[in-house]
Amino acid sequence: MKDSKSLHNRIAKTVREIPRSGIRDFFDIVSTRKDVISLGIGEPDFVTPWHIRDAASRALDRGQTSYTSNLGLLSLRQSIANYVKIKSGIKYSPENEILITVGVSEGLDLAIRALVEPGDEVIYHEPSYVSYNPLIKFAKGNPVAIETRKENKFCITNDELESSLSEKSKILLLNYPNNPTGATLSREEIELVAEFSINNDLIVITDEIYNELTYDKKHYSIISVPEMRDRTIYLNGFSKSWAMTGWRIGYTCAPPELTDAMMKIHQYTMLCAPIIAQEAAIEALELCDSDLKLMKQEYNKRRNYMTASFAEMEISCVNPSGAFYAFVDISKFGMSSQQFAFDLLEAENVAVVPGTAFGSCGEGFIRCSYATSLDRIKIAMERIKNFINSL
Ligand code: PMP
Repeated sequence: MKDSKSLHNRIAKTVREIPRSGIRDFFDIVSTRKDVISLGIGEPDFVTPWHIRDAASRALDRGQTSYTSNLGLLSLRQSIANYVKIKSGIKYSPENEILITVGVSEGLDLAIRALVEPGDEVIYHEPSYVSYNPLIKFAKGNPVAIETRKENKFCITNDELESSLSEKSKILLLNYPNNPTGATLSREEIELVAEFSINNDLIVITDEIYNELTYDKKHYSIISVPEMRDRTIYLNGFSKSWAMTGWRIGYTCAPPELTDAMMKIHQYTMLCAPIIAQEAAIEALELCDSDLKLMKQEYNKRRNYMTASFAEMEISCVNPSGAFYAFVDISKFGMSSQQFAFDLLEAENVAVVPGTAFGSCGEGFIRCSYATSLDRIKIAMERIKNFINSL
């Protein structure tokens, strides 16, 4: 009988070397405490709109409990093609350019695994969603992080893009509106990124899961730039804007060759996304405009309240123009973001995420989510005020 140490050593090196998500560790501690107000949450506090739930119940009543085609229900793919056409002006064929996935999480994994060969470089921007770096490493690619800066409102600049290039660069992974900074790119900024990708023959993976959640300007997708559609994998899903995190449903839009490559992995690993979630997603796309509007109005109110409170406390935070996060600069307190988050939790029972969970350039920041009720945000802001007054 071998001991557990040797079991550990038999775990694949790539997996062994990747640390657990920093967010998870922190929230394991949060979950042991009572009366915590959490601004750490990365998911809507709303329940999925009732008629989406109702559509799912009706599908169950009809006995829809089977697998679907590997690509997903054709009717859902048709609804997605319509939705993406309305949002971006770009057409995708429901027959061979749209694949239904188990959340954007699976879409990211498929896109990266379908493209990356050992040693290929994937350029992405930090602070970033926690899964990008590990997914690239799982695929034996090399993550190349651009450190975006507060001075640039966490937007990537051309100089940063140029200096991240090498002969091995293959993919540019984008996420605007951004988790964790709330940054968005203007149409002009997107056009510059597109030009850079074309000039350097990069394939773009664009994670647009927060496309519906922009507050100051309309979202503009990189697929809308001429010539980009055919070098881009577009990822989106229902978790955020439709408050459907638990349904685990998303999709990819990409040219047939790329869709087919992702489909190969998907069919052998996932087979298909759950049929009930697919039925619910059709309802979400067809009949949800007013729900989306209401939720967005509510997020906007909370965003304005939160940013005004931080301003009152003379704590600086780049105006979050998208998603539902504020990335708050706490560097003037002279402590690490981890320490700040732990001490705030200990002293005032408010949970925020240390910026370093999103890459080392997140040092000096905390992420505060406003996906929680305005009443709770008001109490949390009072508590944060008490905390900083005690420093
Ligand atoms: N991308 C980003 C930027 C996210 O913030 C998240 C969820 N926090 C995901 C992808 C994963 O979403 P899903 O629930 O669709 O897997």
